[in-house]
Amino acid sequence: MNKISNHLPTAELQALDAAHHVHPFSTQAELAERGARVITRADGCWLTDSDGETILDAMAGLWCVNIGYGRDELAEVAAQQMRELPYYNTFFMTTHVPVIALSKKLAELAPGNLNHVMYSSSGSEANDTNLRLVRTYWAEKGKPEKQVIISRWNAYHGSSVGSGSLGGMKGMHAQGGLPIPGIHHIDQPDWWNEGGDMSPEDFGLERAQQLEKAILELGEDKVAAFIAEPIQGAGGVIVPPATYWPEIQRICDKYEILLIADEVICGFGRTGKWFGSETVGIRPDIMTIAKGLSSGYQPIGGSILSDEVAAVIGATEFNHGYTYSGHPVAAAVALENLRILEEEGVVARFGAQTAPYLKEKFQSLADHPMVGEANIVGGMGSLALTPDKASRAKFAAPAGTVGYMVRERCFANNLVMRHVGDRMIISPPLVITNEEVDTLIERARLSLDEAYEKVKAEGLFVAA
Ligand SMILES: *Cc1c(COP(=O)(O)O)cnc(C)c1O
Repeated sequence: MNKISNHLPTAELQALDAAHHVHPFSTQAELAERGARVITRADGCWLTDSDGETILDAMAGLWCVNIGYGRDELAEVAAQQMRELPYYNTFFMTTHVPVIALSKKLAELAPGNLNHVMYSSSGSEANDTNLRLVRTYWAEKGKPEKQVIISRWNAYHGSSVGSGSLGGMKGMHAQGGLPIPGIHHIDQPDWWNEGGDMSPEDFGLERAQQLEKAILELGEDKVAAFIAEPIQGAGGVIVPPATYWPEIQRICDKYEILLIADEVICGFGRTGKWFGSETVGIRPDIMTIAKGLSSGYQPIGGSILSDEVAAVIGATEFNHGYTYSGHPVAAAVALENLRILEEEGVVARFGAQTAPYLKEKFQSLADHPMVGEANIVGGMGSLALTPDKASRAKFAAPAGTVGYMVRERCFANNLVMRHVGDRMIISPPLVITNEEVDTLIERARLSLDEAYEKVKAEGLFVAA
């Protein structure tokens, strides 16, 4: 067996990595120069790297390790399932026990009439499924003209051709000819950056009403669905004003537009409830799930469909699916993850006890001279960095310059906190203890302090 404790020296690993491994969302040239951090093991909320440093993971990997690292139960279930039935497909009228059990459990956990699951191996694939599925749904209902999907700028729905098009990341659209036709983007409810002089309430309404305007412009008979994250994650943890979602729900109901809630991050306890849709009070027709579904222990995602959507789609053959849809090992691991999240009360405890504590501590960072806003819902938090809190000014330096400087200090202080432009974001494992929350906040404050000195010294504490 290839023991992790016997690995090559860090510099050699880094050189091999840079030579042969092309990283996602990275500048390969920079990576070759500086060397990637090599993570060798993890337990709870803590990572260990190849130099033996222990690092507090305030991002739960990529927003996914809700249950924390190092749960033997999941490893046992995977090994057992691999011995019993490592693979079989779910095409052409076959099935297996893990996928049946997982689907039943998801139908129980998901709110309302969301009772039917179509699987993928990732969030991107699930949103690709949704794209074809909603168009097929309307065609089956005799309205083949209803094809356009409305999404939002700065949304993240994945990185494949379809899901990257559904997303509203301009940097992604600029590479590889996205978006594909038939997708329309409206503005996001980011009050801090785009709200101007409006109150958050008025701004939330205005942004929601852009959906109605778009439907009327495109024609109600042309619009299939609206897709959105209940709270935007990768876009910078954008918490919409309270007025936003009720208005969106009203508009979707009025014009018969399917509502797709992309719960890939928000699902499975991340917002303090099982699903973000419950936190923001919406009734989606379809939910995209992945990430926390297996706490990242296995690649699995899916779409949970309402009774009505499933009935329409189920009437004829939907020519769609993946070799690994409902993979037995991934399904078994996801089911065990859900069992632990539920039976050990991880989601309930996080919502009732940890989240309020985390909120209080996280919001205390708003008194830092460089932090304008500390916004957090459940376990999704963001700090808006600014040189002038009163006017919510942006820095004169290119967007992300200061955010990157804070991130560099976090990295040096053994805290994983990401930056999205000039916002610092967190999404820790839901099993984080109050003591670990204290450590997170101490390290975040230290990193902010150190970066602040540097920002001032380099003459960057200047408004645009
Ligand atoms: C991560 C993410 C996706 C894409 O999931 P992958 O598993 O990376 O393909 C889709 N939607 C949201 C909201 C996400 O955060």
